[in-house]
Amino acid sequence: MSNKIKTIAVLTSGGDAPGMNPAIRSIVRTAIGNNLKVYGIKRGYAGLLNNDLVDLNASSVGDIIQKGGTILNSSRCPEFKEKASRELAYQILTDRGVDALIVIGGDGSFKGAHSLASEFNFPVIGIPGTIDNDISGCDYTLGFDTAVQTAVEAIDKIRDTAESNERTFFIEVMGANAPSIALKVGICTGAENIIMGHEQTDIDKLASDIKRGIRRGKNSSIIVVAEGKAPGRSYDYAKELELKHKINSRVCVLGHIQRGGSPSGNDRFYGSVMGQKAVKALLDGQFCHAIVCQKSEVIAIDLDKCLTKSDDAMKSYIGIAENLSI
Ligand code: ADP
Repeated sequence: MSNKIKTIAVLTSGGDAPGMNPAIRSIVRTAIGNNLKVYGIKRGYAGLLNNDLVDLNASSVGDIIQKGGTILNSSRCPEFKEKASRELAYQILTDRGVDALIVIGGDGSFKGAHSLASEFNFPVIGIPGTIDNDISGCDYTLGFDTAVQTAVEAIDKIRDTAESNERTFFIEVMGANAPSIALKVGICTGAENIIMGHEQTDIDKLASDIKRGIRRGKNSSIIVVAEGKAPGRSYDYAKELELKHKINSRVCVLGHIQRGGSPSGNDRFYGSVMGQKAVKALLDGQFCHAIVCQKSEVIAIDLDKCLTKSDDAMKSYIGIAENLSI
């Protein structure tokens, strides 16, 4: 297989995440160092279906390691779920002389890559890139660390005003059906409570925790909420807390601020390592793999282990924030 690969392409797909650019830089420079030609595909699978491929060289990826987002742009492309679209993608890739594709994205993007590999015998490698840290088989996804840090810095600021005005704040963090950001951010900010994805929220318990804190002399409470299916559910909790328990609170939805910003040291590090390993995996003849971090090691595993959403990476930490905030 290795002597067959002369040209590779890379795309970013789904939600953008800080760390994608360091990964693109690493892929391009590792490929060039191994005498491969590299194309960047614009706007994920949508750009692939439009034959929107650009040549990438060492200079194209200069000065991007510190930039959030993705220089290749990203998109959602529902048509790629149809086999006919994947057939067109395969035709375009082979017409352009591309021998293998590296996809940076979440489990949805991986499903598309996996289908392309299995239906057309086309080599693909996935690199986990999503702020949600919610892909099976992966302890870490690019973007998670930066998103957590952004939320932590925002909440530290909100804590100042919560303390000064003796207030309870609901702070909603990103994570569509994925509680990992809320869990880690809650622990890192000393949150009094964390409301995660799907569970029924017990407002009476929340109120009794807040009152217990006040009796102990606390003058603020931070409740971190995972946004769930759509942002804004915190407003309902704030209203219920006021109506049932006469506890006044404020709501802050952090929103898209958490997606942007310069990638953290970890996201630059893992982006660089994963990008390099992705190219090496292709040269070693690996065909349908993901480059993942497991137990602090970056390794290649079968892509089919990474096709579902999973909270396993963080779930052993559930309960810590509440235990520490007595
Ligand atoms: P993420 O990759 O972050 O999980 P999405 O789930 O939105 O984000 O998926 C990104 C893109 O991956 C979709 O817009 C689509 O092009 C492709 N994709 C998602 N699911 C599938 C699937 N079952 N089969 C083929 N392609 C898919």
